[in-house]
Amino acid sequence: MNEYRDIVGVGFGPANLALTVALDEVPGNGTDRPSALFFERQPEFGWHRNMLLPSAKMQVAFVKDLVTFRNPGSAYTFVSYLHHVGRLARFVNNQDFFPTRLEFHDYLEWVASHFTDRIRYGAEVRAIRPAPADGSPGSLEVAVRYRDRPGSQVVSADNVVISTGLVPRVPDGTVLGERVWHSSQFLGRFRARDWSGARRVAVVGAGQSAAELTAFCYDNTTNAEIISVVPSYGYSIADDTPFANEVFDGQAVDDYYFGTKESQDAYWRYHRNTNYSVVDDDLLRELYRRSYDDEFTGARRLNFQRLSRIDGVEETADGARISVRSLSTGQRNHFDVDFVVFGTGYHPMDPGPLLAEVDQYLLRDENGRYRVDRHHRLLTRDGFGGGIYLQGGTEQTHGLSASLLSNMAVRSGEIVGSILGRAKDGWPWTDSRAADGSEPAAAVS
Ligand SMILES: Cc1cc2nc3c(=O)[nH]c(=O)nc-3n(C[C@H](O)[C@H](O)[C@H](O)COP(=O)(O)OP(=O)(O)OC[C@H]3O[C@@H](n4cnc5c(N)ncnc54)[C@H](O)[C@@H]3O)c2cc1C
Repeated sequence: MNEYRDIVGVGFGPANLALTVALDEVPGNGTDRPSALFFERQPEFGWHRNMLLPSAKMQVAFVKDLVTFRNPGSAYTFVSYLHHVGRLARFVNNQDFFPTRLEFHDYLEWVASHFTDRIRYGAEVRAIRPAPADGSPGSLEVAVRYRDRPGSQVVSADNVVISTGLVPRVPDGTVLGERVWHSSQFLGRFRARDWSGARRVAVVGAGQSAAELTAFCYDNTTNAEIISVVPSYGYSIADDTPFANEVFDGQAVDDYYFGTKESQDAYWRYHRNTNYSVVDDDLLRELYRRSYDDEFTGARRLNFQRLSRIDGVEETADGARISVRSLSTGQRNHFDVDFVVFGTGYHPMDPGPLLAEVDQYLLRDENGRYRVDRHHRLLTRDGFGGGIYLQGGTEQTHGLSASLLSNMAVRSGEIVGSILGRAKDGWPWTDSRAADGSEPAAAVS
């Protein structure tokens, strides 16, 4: 018989890590807690490892960690981590709400290290399907392939939570290779050889990753010219001012989900610039200052190709040749570079391939998108037993924070509440009885 768990998690990034903690904090003596198992295709925990650039900062305040907004008394807050590693006083003295990405990664690893008994690394989930009606436990089956063994394993579950993350995006026709990279590959590729003698490198894109890469390449090559291909006139600033920042609050998820189409459109029209295709104020000004200083000294290492797009890239014997088309003149310039990196962002999470075998049971809206309830569960046809939850890929139903850290703590509590049939109670649950005094609903549907 297959292994069985109440919940199987697909992917083990911050979203399912937050869920793991929420499950661990379900009140009770432990026996009430649903059993869970998580599969992660990487060989160990890693959060955007290839973009852990030394000076890169977080874009959320440290209190928007995996748990605080759900349970500030948790043992897994960022503050608990700082206390554990002996840096709490100095962190506060530093007076900065935004840790480096490296430090936040260390925090995530520290949390993950407490739950190794329920994570299988090097394990890629290939399919989710309905369980056969042969009396085995569970409504769903999850097929898993391990890096280090042949064949696949099937685990049965009643609930599956999919958190497989964003999907790297490059311009149509781009073929990635030895010298042509996406930002999600960057540090691994960059550190594989010595680029100090590089003559010219190119960075494509106008968002945060592209700006970070431009600064990094400037700092980590000695004399290279950095061609920065931006589709806009220049970098635009990320709006993290107080009123705009409220779009990431828990309340905003309700307002978005239950809002009209017109109000949902307004989120994107007015507040897209809180996160998408924008650059942090400090970094943007730093890049401009360097470019100005370069002009003064005559170094001119930063070469901004503004209002331009890449319309061709091919690898050469010792680098790549890029074709850059100006949107203003239509003129094309060709550059031979040591490498080109695309900081061109990501597509939202796409659970479609994993769900192909249950697709016929899933309800879709008039645009063909999955219908998702407020607590992140896919709506299914009558008679379909399993609970399938999405963490990510729900921008159109749950708004701007769907793929971000901001709302993960609260969202994971909502998912646990939904699985336990206690969504209406909110969090924390103070006792093992439902708010009306009755026994809690069955632990799993
Ligand atoms: C460079 C970078 C910096 C960012 N910084 C911030 C920030 O400061 N603040 C913020 O709010 N957001 C930030 N984001 C947005 C980002 O989406 C979130 O930080 C976060 O990664 C989302 O967590 P997740 O668990 O949903 O996805 P991920 O972190 O992408 O984790 C998904 C995991 O699923 C695994 N996986 C995928 N498919 C399978 C499969 N079939 N089987 C098993 N495992 C699988 C992947 O290997 C991965 O580990 C950043 C994004 C990037 C790219």
